[in-house]
Amino acid sequence: AKEAGRACVEVYTGPVAAMRERRLRLEHRLRLAITNGSVRTVGQPIVDLATGRLTGFESLARWTDEELGPISPEEFIPVAEQTGMVVALGEQLLSETLTEASRAGVFAAGLSVAVNASPIQLRVPGFVELMRHHLVRLAVPPGLVVVEITEAILVDEDDPAMAALAELRALGVELAIDDFGTGYSALGYLRRLPVQVLKIDKSLTQSLGTEPKTLAIVDGVVRMSHRLGIRVVMEGIEVEHEAGLCRSVGADRGQGWLYGRPTPWSQITAVPDHAVPP
Ligand code: C2E
Ligand code: CA
Ligand code: CA
Ligand code: CA
Repeated sequence: AKEAGRACVEVYTGPVAAMRERRLRLEHRLRLAITNGSVRTVGQPIVDLATGRLTGFESLARWTDEELGPISPEEFIPVAEQTGMVVALGEQLLSETLTEASRAGVFAAGLSVAVNASPIQLRVPGFVELMRHHLVRLAVPPGLVVVEITEAILVDEDDPAMAALAELRALGVELAIDDFGTGYSALGYLRRLPVQVLKIDKSLTQSLGTEPKTLAIVDGVVRMSHRLGIRVVMEGIEVEHEAGLCRSVGADRGQGWLYGRPTPWSQITAVPDHAVPP
């Protein structure tokens, strides 16, 4: 008990305590931000790799807190998930994304918008209804909306998230597997889920030039996807060299700094055929 007591003292004064404090503070500030609707979204271009033409955008969350400064979604989305706040947050972000993208003329130009959905959002009732509500409200063609899910979600067929995904698909919304190649095997899920898009994680994209094995794997994944009628989006393309490698394996679409940074919807003007992000 004495040992444990000493360990505690260390824990509450050391770096662990600092992390815990930041985490609590972040949680508090995030709750406030959601109440005030101050988490926003931006759109990052996705292009056709063969022609370079814009095909759509991915919506990404952005939050700059008055006290904490800019916080990465890599940090605040997990906090939102662990606290359940991601449900309310996700509802806001979905509404904002579809509203802002409509206003920017994205759907009128026939361009698509992808939104990230946390497994937790899909497990609570209401997400599909909310999606339907916004599609109708804004007269968005459902086929222009893509819901991105991480492989990690797809663990079990009885997961209510699986039912939600089937319902989304029934609405006409497309489904994408996000971060493909980062730890979970999506192969089984490709059999079970009506997926239209596979997004290859940037860690693979950025290794194509240096790791022959990765090149072979991605090449194989693209072939397999095409046989399944699934299109492949390469993430994290930063330089032309990477784009060339992505084209060489036959991937369909590309996303990354080479084509455009995540951009506020207000700065995006979509016109048919040659939508131009700044
Ligand atoms: P993700 O869904 O894989 O999103 C792609 C991430 O790659 C984004 O990071 C994007 O800014 C970044 N990225 C794009 N192009 C490049 C590039 O060329 N090079 C590099 N190095 N990075 C690039 P971001 O915006 O920081 O988002 C991180 C993650 O947070 C996302 O990864 C996603 O998992 C999560 N996230 C972001 N927004 C949302 C959201 O609205 N809802 C949910 N549930 N998760 C979100
Ligand atoms: Ca994503
Ligand atoms: Ca991704
Ligand atoms: Ca990711």
